[in-house]
Amino acid sequence: MKITFLAPIFIACFVLISGCKQSTPSSATEHENKPAAPKNIVLVIGDGTGINQISALEFYKEGPIYYDDFPVVGLSKVSSTSLVTDSAAAGTAMACGQKTYNKAIGVDVNGQALPSITEYMAQKGGANGIISTSSITHATPACFFAHHDDRNDHEIIAGFLPQAPINFFAGPGMKYFNQRTDQVNLMPIFSQNNFEIDSILRPHPEAEKVGYLLAPEDMPKMSEGRGPFLQEAADLAIKHLTKNDRGFFMMLEASQVDWGGHDNDFPYMLSELIDLDDTLGFLLNFARRDQNTLIVVTGDHATGGFSLSADDDSYDKINPTFSSTRHNADWIPVFAYGPGAEQFGGVYENTAIFYKIKSLLDL
Ligand SMILES: [Zn+2]
Repeated sequence: MKITFLAPIFIACFVLISGCKQSTPSSATEHENKPAAPKNIVLVIGDGTGINQISALEFYKEGPIYYDDFPVVGLSKVSSTSLVTDSAAAGTAMACGQKTYNKAIGVDVNGQALPSITEYMAQKGGANGIISTSSITHATPACFFAHHDDRNDHEIIAGFLPQAPINFFAGPGMKYFNQRTDQVNLMPIFSQNNFEIDSILRPHPEAEKVGYLLAPEDMPKMSEGRGPFLQEAADLAIKHLTKNDRGFFMMLEASQVDWGGHDNDFPYMLSELIDLDDTLGFLLNFARRDQNTLIVVTGDHATGGFSLSADDDSYDKINPTFSSTRHNADWIPVFAYGPGAEQFGGVYENTAIFYKIKSLLDL
């Protein structure tokens, strides 16, 4: 009788002790040997930004090149279940850690939703931010808050955002929220979910969650006067997200490098690259002060078969050359600065970026 009475208590104690043992380091040595881990991670994605695009900064940007300041560089293999990826499959690989088909937004090859890094971060109690110069419903940003089988369904993708675990977002794409073909207005749903939405980039210090929808569809090109939107949005995002003492994850996309590549328009592509590089300068400044933030910079794929070819008559002249209006299959560089940066050296699949971030944030 006595034994049967005590057995459940004994088992409960054992479970408690062994449970504790798993979540705390078993010795001080183990704790000291733990590699550096960041509190915050900023993932910067240059859409359509491969090594040849980045190299163009060396020859065509006046002033400092901030890509030069990253101490760790790796290479990412970006094929989707097709040899050549699109932004949706590449975004899903980085947001959710699985290769999938082109057009997939946060879903696997069977169309099943995959848990994303922002969902894991919210479960831990951390904050999430998303910034892009394409519509916030566009393929790359969408993979960080939505799950849908087709990137082209912007209105369906928009429907995920009010209830997604996102604390800050900034980008264009207003029309998919309040001028929809189905007449549904998502603005009240944002309010119900404690979001303050603004169409001007200005502080909302008291807001629990804040979203900026700054243009009906896309942000203007740099050449059309966009100005330092990415830096200003990153600044507001950091001020908002650092209020959470469990840390933050932010994805910032320079979306339009890709569009310059598709258009085979070198001045367009270059001005977007320069804006991206200047944004890296801003983020590095923050990371240097903060000491607790890892900045990871990569691309989803390169675009346009772009290269820096020598002129026919002179090796002292470069002819920026496009050989395609579509994406490339090239390996894509990954740059890292901050605690945990060394994890990003080497050669790996783009899905590894998800697992590295997840592990470094202890998710
Ligand atoms: Zn593209």
